[in-house]
Amino acid sequence: MELHRKTVNAVVASDSKTKNKKQQSSQSQQTSLYLTNAVFFTFFFSVAYFLLHQWRDKIRTSTPLHILTISEIAAGVSLIFSVIYLMSFFGIGIIFQSSAVHYDEEEDEAHIAKNSGSCLAGVSPEKPALPPKISVKKVDLAPVPEVILSSDDKEIVRAVVSGSIPSYSLESKLGDCKRAAAIRNQVVERVTGRSLEGLPMEGFDYDSILGQCCEMPIGFVQIPVGVAGPLLLDGKEYTVPMATTEGCLVASTNRGCKAIYVSGGASAVVLRDGMTRAPVVRFNSAKRASQLKFFLEDSQNFDSLSHIFNKSSRFARLQSIKATMAGKNLYIRFTCSTGDAMGMNMVSKGVQNVLDFLQSDFPDMDVIGISGNFCSDKKAAAVNWIEGRGKSVVCEAVIKEEVVKKVLKSSVKSLVELNMLKNLTGSAMAGALGGFNAHSSNIVSAIYLATGQDPAQNVESSHCMTMMEAVNDGKDLHISVTMPCIEVGTVGGGTQLASQSACLNLLGVKGASKESPGANSRTLATIVAGSVLAGELSLMSAIAAGQLVKSHMKYNRSSKDVSKVAS
Ligand code: ADP
Repeated sequence: MELHRKTVNAVVASDSKTKNKKQQSSQSQQTSLYLTNAVFFTFFFSVAYFLLHQWRDKIRTSTPLHILTISEIAAGVSLIFSVIYLMSFFGIGIIFQSSAVHYDEEEDEAHIAKNSGSCLAGVSPEKPALPPKISVKKVDLAPVPEVILSSDDKEIVRAVVSGSIPSYSLESKLGDCKRAAAIRNQVVERVTGRSLEGLPMEGFDYDSILGQCCEMPIGFVQIPVGVAGPLLLDGKEYTVPMATTEGCLVASTNRGCKAIYVSGGASAVVLRDGMTRAPVVRFNSAKRASQLKFFLEDSQNFDSLSHIFNKSSRFARLQSIKATMAGKNLYIRFTCSTGDAMGMNMVSKGVQNVLDFLQSDFPDMDVIGISGNFCSDKKAAAVNWIEGRGKSVVCEAVIKEEVVKKVLKSSVKSLVELNMLKNLTGSAMAGALGGFNAHSSNIVSAIYLATGQDPAQNVESSHCMTMMEAVNDGKDLHISVTMPCIEVGTVGGGTQLASQSACLNLLGVKGASKESPGANSRTLATIVAGSVLAGELSLMSAIAAGQLVKSHMKYNRSSKDVSKVAS
């Protein structure tokens, strides 16, 4: 972003320099033009006066008009020349002006296209750069404020700045989310003294986020969405949307998808589907805490507990309760299915129901927190890696030898060796927790952002064990990704926002599944795993073939970014 801003500033600065030079030269040209015209005007009127004078004398003296003296002939010729010049003066002026404007536009276009071309360079080397006219539209040399505030709104801005109206109350006070966001945007600029130019306000439905997705909005951040695919998974083709600003990522995943496709596709299995929440409760003694543990884990009590729990939603179904102790503190991990929702709200409500119910039998139970981190949400934790959280998925494919060579530009032997030394041994040496992969989180984050998932859950959702093995007499490559914690939903949260919903629609998993609740979110989890498989294939091949740096240089990335992707 910084680089882009600098580029645009440079374009604007160099444009204004060029324009200054052009203005100076055009001023001197205009001065000389006016002088020449003044001379010709004077000449024209003098000659015309002389000829008219001669004509009057000839009429008075009855001299025939066609008898001309040498001075009259010279005056006539001069008159004709000056008339020709003065007529062309207007023409020249117009032609000069229009050609000057034309020249400006052409040069600006060429100049901006040249500069923006450096941003585009390498994105698609085979394809021609965008036509200059499109580039001109993109570079906003004179930004126009997007939102023009009325005088009433300016009053409100002043009131918020002075503190008499709280910023958070704008939506409820005004009853207009967009207006509230525009006013807050101005307030932030005033209070911080920093410009928000570049942060768009227009083109977003602020009502759709109220009370659900984001508080105190001042605009929205744009993230480009690319597509990788088709991903051939379980006999179906998916075009996978990926929201990212990391060059190479989509291209690389796309290459992996191609390798999978021409090898006959990948297949995935959802091994487990359950969201977890684990409150922490405290007793006066460890013995008393253990009594609750045994009560909760007794299968005879499960039916009544699940009945209480399931009241939270028609989609919440309690699967298991596991409790672990730390002294007199008890951490109770509830696992439940949540239909097509990612399920954090649902499971939390169910847990609250159970805690309320337990309070009558265990009045000495002190609920310290609805979440005691044994859940474990948005943190790398062994409990998730071992037990799973959300959807646990395994996805596999057999990549043919010639595909490894031709599409991935690598060999089965070197891929298997690299996987063993990097993803398995290297990660073990680093003490990794769920990080036995090349860049699972790259793909997970990009799909999560595109489809409205909670991006913070990328932490455990990216846990992945990538395995590679030579099969079919060592000729072909068997690759698998095992991902125990893919936390996704197709209803609730950010999934209902317009652009995220469009991406879910592209995958055919938008909203709740009508046939079987949970089917859409499970399919989405398999797509995430399939895309990770594609990403692993491609990046591992690039590293094995030593292509990584080259491909990043091609895509105009700095060496810093290269090392980031290679992590
Ligand atoms: P989360 O629990 O992931 O935070 P929300 O609670 O925001 O999700 O959204 C889930 C809501 O969607 C619930 O109110 C639920 O009743 C509703 N819903 C409708 N259809 C489904 C479905 N097929 N699966 C899960 N929830 C559904």
